[in-house]
Amino acid sequence: MKVLIVGGVAAGASTAARIRRLDEMAEILILERDQYVSFANCGLPYHIGKIIPDRNSLLLHTPESLKQKLNIEVRTQHEVIKLHPASKEVEVKDINKGSTYKESYDKLVLCPGASPIRPPIPGANTPGVFVLRNIPDMDRIISQIDKGAKRAVVIGGSYIGLEVAEGFHAKGLHTTILEMSDRLMPWLDKEMTRILHFHVNSKKVDVKLGVAAKSITSKGNMLEIQLSNGEILETDVIVMATGVRPNVELAKEAGLKIGTRGGIAVNAQMQTSDPDIFAAGDAVETPHLITGAATLSMLAGPANRQGRIAADVICGKKSSYRGTQGTSVVKAFDMSVGGSGLTEQDLQRIGMDFRKIYLHPNDHAEYFPGASPMFIKVLFEPKEGKILGAQVLGWSGVDKRIDVFAMAIRAGMTIFDLEHLELSYAPPYASAKDPVNMAGFHGSNLLRGDIHLCYSEEFPECAERVTILDVRTRPEFDHWHIPGAILIPQTELRARIDELPKGKPIYTYCRSGVRSYMAYCILKQRGFKEVFSLAGGLMTYHGYHKTPLASGSAGYPVVTHAEDILAQKPGAVDHL
Ligand code: FAD
Repeated sequence: MKVLIVGGVAAGASTAARIRRLDEMAEILILERDQYVSFANCGLPYHIGKIIPDRNSLLLHTPESLKQKLNIEVRTQHEVIKLHPASKEVEVKDINKGSTYKESYDKLVLCPGASPIRPPIPGANTPGVFVLRNIPDMDRIISQIDKGAKRAVVIGGSYIGLEVAEGFHAKGLHTTILEMSDRLMPWLDKEMTRILHFHVNSKKVDVKLGVAAKSITSKGNMLEIQLSNGEILETDVIVMATGVRPNVELAKEAGLKIGTRGGIAVNAQMQTSDPDIFAAGDAVETPHLITGAATLSMLAGPANRQGRIAADVICGKKSSYRGTQGTSVVKAFDMSVGGSGLTEQDLQRIGMDFRKIYLHPNDHAEYFPGASPMFIKVLFEPKEGKILGAQVLGWSGVDKRIDVFAMAIRAGMTIFDLEHLELSYAPPYASAKDPVNMAGFHGSNLLRGDIHLCYSEEFPECAERVTILDVRTRPEFDHWHIPGAILIPQTELRARIDELPKGKPIYTYCRSGVRSYMAYCILKQRGFKEVFSLAGGLMTYHGYHKTPLASGSAGYPVVTHAEDILAQKPGAVDHL
């Protein structure tokens, strides 16, 4: 059997290696148009900032090592320029020689990946303006820095943009991120991203949201970017991290089916509309695990798994791809940010009913040094509680929680199931009630009717019809409170309960939602009928509203100890 693979990085190299493990006699040929094969594209931004110091460590394999270890033939700088499905051949251009030739196959696997999108603005191709997809792209960016660049602009504030910005920052460049939407990491729900914005700003990276680059011009040794808000930025290097589109031209031209999202259409066995042609990775679209709708995943994990499945099927094994859920995480300076499954904006777009909770537990035991709060949002079905999505941000332990949520989503678990997960615990790593368990307790309380929540988006309109009860301490209240709120600290609530106005719903709130839940229990059990606790407390409220924290004019929104204890300590609320 002769298997031809187009593209030799994540999906292509995985396919090839798996075929070799399953079939020692197969003839495997990878055709790769680039100079490098099987390199670590996910590591590229980290070499720009020298967080990964050794360029060679990004080169996971060479044609020689693949030949030696796996008996796979790799031809780099050989571009497949046409498919001939009828004769089971491909046309190849030898880039160095400029000549073309035909290569036959029994099975063909298309793993051509995706190409970065350069926004169609004047000057997008000016020297000094780069994209980042492969090693030569990275080398070009580094050589521009090495010419003495002092300023950098990154267009696009999603994960590659953030990673590149961190790389520039690490090299000492004054860095600006331009993001056309109203938030960094636009695929997360907006209220979750404000803390990230705040954090990136705190590193002296200039973040401009809601601003697009209109044009770029070269001015001597520097570049000028004209922005949609009329501003003009001067810079020495620009990276466009504005998304990618699947490379489908070969497939399209050969008459293979292209899906509704613009990726190569494949079945669960990764077969295209031609059963002898398979496809995997960024170039394909696959069903979303929860909705079944076609999705472009653009992530390394799915690319590798899809390649493995294509190889299994080619070698006669039963294997199926089970859908994409979009699990991802990114490091943004000291924070980690990510999620899995659907977001609230996704659910609203597809009109699917849901319930949501926010919580801010510490990543590990409060008494163990270095504890820091997490920003967690979980979305689930209103009846059965099936988990639909989760987003997690924080300083530590974020990846672990995202992965537990991802597992739960993959397994079709419910919010009730999270109460029962037995997760590893010791003080440096977690609490006996892990943040994921806490999400289970909280969400289950909500669905069982043991707590009623109000949400930040109801403010300020709700102020006219409800009593807003702040149950934090006096110093916290004096520092900042929701306009119109009255203060009765949770610890004094039992004694002062008669001070509360009757006949109006009560919205309790505190900093993270813990004290306000305790206040909720007191009030409900002492006869107040309509009580609601603010979901996620002020830590989530700041994500929605332009509070002093949200506008960046106040300090660090981090609590490392139990809130009420912390609030009694001198200076402890200075960060708000
Ligand atoms: P690719 O890895 O892009 O490989 C496709 C290859 O096909 C390319 O080398 C290309 O030259 C070759 N090719 C294309 N057309 C032809 C042709 N006609 N003939 C011959 N060869 C051809 N994902 C994560 O999950 N986590 C991360 O942290 C992460 N970080 C990333 C950081 C960066 C900077 C980038 C660029 C991507 C990152 N990704 C990350 C995404 C991840 O790298 C991709 O999802 C993954 O590489 C897709 O694999 P693929 O094999 O489909 O495509």
